[in-house]
Amino acid sequence: MRIAVLKEGAGETRCAAVPDTVKKYVALGAQVAVERGAGASASVPDSEFEAAGATLGDRAEVLKGGGIILSIAGPDPATLKGAEQGALLVGALDPLRRQGAVEAYVAAGLEALAMEWMPRISRAQSMDVLSSQSNLAGYKAVIDAASAYGRAFPMMMTAAGTVSPAKVFVMGVGVAGLQAIATARRLGAQVSATDVRSATKEQIQSLGAKPIFVENVAGIEGEGAGGYAAEMSEEYQKAQAELVSAHIAKQDIVITTALIPGRPAPRLISKAQLATMRPGSVIVDLAAEAGGNVEGTVAGETVVVGGVDIIGAANLARSLAADASALFARNLYNFLSAFWDKEQARPVLPDDDEIVKAIRLTHSGKVVNERLTVA
Ligand code: NAD
Repeated sequence: MRIAVLKEGAGETRCAAVPDTVKKYVALGAQVAVERGAGASASVPDSEFEAAGATLGDRAEVLKGGGIILSIAGPDPATLKGAEQGALLVGALDPLRRQGAVEAYVAAGLEALAMEWMPRISRAQSMDVLSSQSNLAGYKAVIDAASAYGRAFPMMMTAAGTVSPAKVFVMGVGVAGLQAIATARRLGAQVSATDVRSATKEQIQSLGAKPIFVENVAGIEGEGAGGYAAEMSEEYQKAQAELVSAHIAKQDIVITTALIPGRPAPRLISKAQLATMRPGSVIVDLAAEAGGNVEGTVAGETVVVGGVDIIGAANLARSLAADASALFARNLYNFLSAFWDKEQARPVLPDDDEIVKAIRLTHSGKVVNERLTVA
């Protein structure tokens, strides 16, 4: 089995393999061919891939004979000419926004697997690219906030006077939110956090932060469907807005991470609420690409409203390319090795497997995933 590792397109800094995973594929009995320069923006020179046992080549050379094609983002189908019929294309393929590309993968005879549709089950935890990348994004959001903030995070008692600790509020306590809380705490901030899922209350407390929860209207008990949140009732949204209004005026930094799968991000901070924040405060909106949790957020840009910086964070994991690549690459390896059949020396994907059903987009010349076929 030959595995092709693609060099990503413009704007993408990460790489779908690192020397460590190349060694692991070689140990499984596979050959690995890396497109020249694929690791450059993730601080992995070609020489390190070679030392790990990979061969190097241009796009056409690495695709030739490749039974598996690894990528971070879905490659432009036009660049896959010469790919082998039946090859697995594995990456975060963004199928809902790239249905045309999925059709083109079918036409090219590829078996496309969308890693971001990995089910939230314990067996798949180590294969979950959304988690591995969100964790880094949660960390980086706090670092970016600290860098934009004109004051210090920790309390400092100096001969010249006392610097008070920053007050950080994290809204949405999934994978990114938990890491944001932990990072802000490490930097010495006073941290509070909120979510609609009651299960997060204990997690917030265990990280030494203060939970701020709507108490008078029921939220989501337990973990909700697959761990995700759902849209809340109007009554809940109103109670949440009141709670946020009272709290937010006293905060220096707000990190918002709230997402609802398949829906625009819930609006958590209105312009009127923003106006109550002190000039110099900083908001990092990690939901910017899904429409934003904050009114006025622009994905990929920083807007200043009434002296408050609103950073519309877009794919922050890309700015930690080396670590993000290492974790993403490991997710891909964990997935492929879990299905590896030693005798056939290739991954075998059973039709009835929960993971396969969730992530398989195309199979034997057809689009097969229910999320794409059911209108
Ligand atoms: P996410 O990115 O979908 O959402 C981020 C957070 O925003 C969630 O905690 C959500 O409850 C919260 N949120 C949504 N609407 C909100 C609102 N109106 N107000 C406040 N908060 C709101 O979530 P995620 O980071 O992907 O993780 C969700 C859950 O899935 C977590 O419990 C996580 O532990 C679990 N998970 C499980 C696995 C696994 O078992 N394989 C893998 C990853 C995550």
